[in-house]
Amino acid sequence: MFYIFLFIFGACIGSFLNVLIDRLPNDESIMGRSHCDYCSHKLNWFDLFPILSFFWLKGKCRYCGKKLSPIYPLIEVLTAIAFVLTWIFAPADNILVKYGYLGVISSLIVVFFSDLKYQIIPDSIQIAFFVSSLIVAGNAIDVTIFAKKAAAALIIMAPIYFLHAVTKGKGMGFGDVKLAFTIGFLLGIKGGIAALYIGFILGAAVGLILLGFKKKGLRSKIPFGPFLVLGVLIVLFFQSPLFALIKRIYGI
Ligand SMILES: [Zn+2]
Repeated sequence: MFYIFLFIFGACIGSFLNVLIDRLPNDESIMGRSHCDYCSHKLNWFDLFPILSFFWLKGKCRYCGKKLSPIYPLIEVLTAIAFVLTWIFAPADNILVKYGYLGVISSLIVVFFSDLKYQIIPDSIQIAFFVSSLIVAGNAIDVTIFAKKAAAALIIMAPIYFLHAVTKGKGMGFGDVKLAFTIGFLLGIKGGIAALYIGFILGAAVGLILLGFKKKGLRSKIPFGPFLVLGVLIVLFFQSPLFALIKRIYGI
């Protein structure tokens, strides 16, 4: 019963994340009723039920009949599933930390899709991600643990900052640099390096595949943020098998 509630709650948050993904990168107000992307008709409350409305409307706008992007219900379902999985699997020993992880996951979903769609990682989401990571670190009011986390943040940020500086912001945006800082704070040095490593490998693989299909020229930009997000999620959810694998290969 609780998980059904959590799923519905996640779907509603996902619906809100959709609003953030489309409005924050374009500097639009997040207040005010959503409207159709095509005809700009304001949507009614009964058009805005997460997941259900899309199927009820058969994926079309009620007012102009244009096809709605399946990305919207996809993000709602994704957030709903992520909330349930996070609650079950996140390495949290108290309820506040679990809420922190829900914040982390929500922020990462917005980073993933707004970077993918608009090549922008909005600052307000960077802040939300950092604050959520602070809540996850909640119990670590201990100064030494906090100092360790801050050091990890700087260490994980350093290589991304270096790439950003060397490529003059073309290979790596400053948004990726800020993202790497919070990733280091959240995951520590070992987890942070693992997340970067996975991000680079996935990015390279997808880049090569797109190149193979000649979808993107060498010069066209593939945002790096989504790959970093995937790296973080893999480290968060598969930490113990991943760390066991690292130990076996590298002995650390
Ligand atoms: Zn419409």
